[in-house]
Order: sequence, then C-alpha cells, then structure tokens
Amino acid sequence: MEEETLDILIRGGIVLTISKDKDVIDNGEIGIRDGRIEFVRAIGTDLHRPEAKEIINAENMLVMPGLVNTHTHLPMIYFRGLADDLPLNEWLVNHIFPAEARFVNSEFCRNGANLAIAEMILSGTTTFCDAYFYPESIAQAAIESKMRGVICAGFADFPAPGNPDPARNAEVARAFLDTWTGFSSLITPALFCHAPYTCAPETFRDIKDIARSKGALFMTHLAETKWEVEDIKNRYGDTPVRLLSKLGILDEKTVAVHCNWLDDEEISIMADCGAKVSHNPESSMKLAAGVAPVPAMLEKGITVGLGTDGCASNNDLDLIKEMGTAAKIHKAVTLDPTVMDARTVLELATIEGAKVLGMEKEIGSIEKGKRADILLIDLNKPHLTPLYNPYSHVVYSASGADVTTSIIDGKVVMRNRNLTTIDINAAVNWGRVHISRKREM
Ligand SMILES: [Zn+2]
Repeated sequence: MEEETLDILIRGGIVLTISKDKDVIDNGEIGIRDGRIEFVRAIGTDLHRPEAKEIINAENMLVMPGLVNTHTHLPMIYFRGLADDLPLNEWLVNHIFPAEARFVNSEFCRNGANLAIAEMILSGTTTFCDAYFYPESIAQAAIESKMRGVICAGFADFPAPGNPDPARNAEVARAFLDTWTGFSSLITPALFCHAPYTCAPETFRDIKDIARSKGALFMTHLAETKWEVEDIKNRYGDTPVRLLSKLGILDEKTVAVHCNWLDDEEISIMADCGAKVSHNPESSMKLAAGVAPVPAMLEKGITVGLGTDGCASNNDLDLIKEMGTAAKIHKAVTLDPTVMDARTVLELATIEGAKVLGMEKEIGSIEKGKRADILLIDLNKPHLTPLYNPYSHVVYSASGADVTTSIIDGKVVMRNRNLTTIDINAAVNWGRVHISRKREM
C-alpha cells in the first residue's frame, strides 16, 4: 500500500515520548499529517523512507511533547516588573487592580496575549490555560498565532473590565461557552471564579453549575495564602477547600490553582473528588504565598500540572525554568532529594498538565494519533553537553531559549528560533508605545 505524503517528517534526535509504553527513542523519526502524529519509531525499523513536504533534521536534538502551561493571565505581561517584592494583598489591591482599571480593554488584552504567546512559543509552551478579562480577545490572539489554549471567562463579585455588572455573571458565562464551544479546534472555553475571597458561595455555585451543565472545565485560585485561609474561616467557618467541597464545587472538572495551604485531610478531600491542581511555584515563591505540598498530593493520586501564573508575579512564562524550580523547591522544603525527580516534573509539564485540562487523549505525549504538538531542543550547547539523562537536562540545565523549533497542531510555529505566525516587532512595539510611556502609576 502506498503511503500518502506526510506534511512533516522529523528525522533523528532523541525522542522523549512521555508515553506509557515507549520511553526514550534514540535516533527516532516522527511522521505528521493533517495535524496528527502518524507514527513515532526508531529510524531503521521501517526500510521504506516516507515522502514528506518538510523534513526537519533533529540530529543532536531532543524531541519532546510541547509544554502545557496550566495557569496564566496572559495580558498581565504588560505589568511585568510594575510592582515587585510586595505581599500578595498589597501587590494586588494597591498596584495590580489600579493598573488594570486604568489600562485594561480589549485591545490591551489582544496585544498582551499576542506578546505573551510569542514568549510562550519561544520557550516551548504549546498549550496554555488562561483566565483574564476580555477572554474573547485572548482567544482571537491564540487563533491568529495558531496556539492551543483553554480560555476561561473570569468572574468576581465586583465590576471588572469588560464585565461591569456582576449581576450578569451567569448570563455572561453562558454566552461565552455558547460562543466558543466548537468555534476553533485550537480553543477550549472554560469558566473561572477568581478566588473564595472575591467570589461569594452563590457565585461559585452559579458559575460551576453552568460549567457542569455544558461539560466545561471550571477553575479557581484556591488556598493561595495563609491570609486567605484565615479570611475564609472568619467569613464562613471553614477553610477554602472544605468550603468549596461542601458547596459541591470540587470534582474532576475543577482545577484548583496554587493550593499552597492544604492540610492532610484537605489533600484527601481533593484526591477523593478527583479535583486537579495547577502548581505555580515561582509565583507563590515571589509573593511569599507559600509552597504547595505537591509530593504529598502526588502520593495521594491528585493530578497536578505546572503553571507560571501571570507575568506580574513570576516574572516570565518560561515553563522550562518553572520545571527546574518545581524540582528543587520541594527537595528544600521536605529535606528529601528524591522527591520531584526530573522525569516526574517533566510529566507534570506535559502529560499531567494535559490531564489537568482534560486533554490527555489529544496532547501531552508523542504517540500515534495524537495532535502533533512537538518541540525540539538543541543539544549543541555548552550547558547541555555531555548528555547522560535527557530528563535531567531539560529540567535542571535547559531554559526556554534552548527550544529551536515548535510545532502546534502539525504546524511549525517557530523554525530555528523564528516565529512563523507572529510579527515579533509589532508585538513588542505595541506595549512600548501604549504602556511603557504611561508608566507613572
Ligand atoms: Zn493566577
């Protein structure tokens, strides 16, 4: 039988499949057609050399699944470095909220998302999950740049940019899901309640009910700071996790972001209901919010993915660097160097992140039939030579700048460090012209 011409053939290189059965393939090749992975195998196992429209030479490269960033606020890229070295509450209330009130509109969000997507592609992320204002602008930016995204419409109990009347939250949530469900194969719409301290129990119930009725993912910041736990206990007599559990919010389609302050019983509550966790160690370190007990969560069987959070509290979107932090912080906290080994952490940033977003059948590993979200890391670098263990190099030695080529949904979105879907100069300039010159805030 004659094989049809492939769109892309990636040839050579060490393939980290992150699949259950195939571990690492030395000198592998990957065939891609119509956005999907047609085959992944060692070169030489099939004598027939397939035809391809584009052949990517991956010699001396690591080939791995694209990274999944499970929590971002993309347009906050324009607030990077605006206010650092402050406690979360002061940072949020005195600096971020006023800056948002002043600057945020749909144009800001569209351009901010575009710039952030450029930064993510340049550092190996191929799927993100975002929660911010004007989510339709963020979805449009993702579609234009051929980036895969879960886009949440966000809700709180006070007027917000693009959503001035909280009484209409339910209506806005329904309309958002109706508009974006099935709109683009790259976009998955979802709903987000900002936090238990900005959303009343009724808001959580209403928004979660809508998400549930439409089969959509629901997300919230949860148990981020000690202050939040005390505040929620004072208001409702329960910790944030117990409160949401009693409200019936926590299930397998709920993603709780941060979860820095969970006791053992709360970890069990989360595990029993199948709720997922987005772990954002750098943001929580920078805001001194705490460190999530991730090794204990994994032991209990909770699905955990990695996230960067917004650029104002990280201050970058480099998920490779985030992996290094995630691998090291828990060793320091537990005084156990065996926790969060490199392979585990790399899985958190790929297949486990895909599970957090409910997309593990489509992305997160290099396997026949999955969407082709793949990146290549150049090993011809002083800091990546010699190579004993590819997982170790990615997690402990590499950074986003080592990613040379990225493929999303079978399309090359970065080739040899050049973005193919984003005009990088225009993306950088918009922020310079519209934001930097108005910095006196
Ligand atoms: Zn966040």
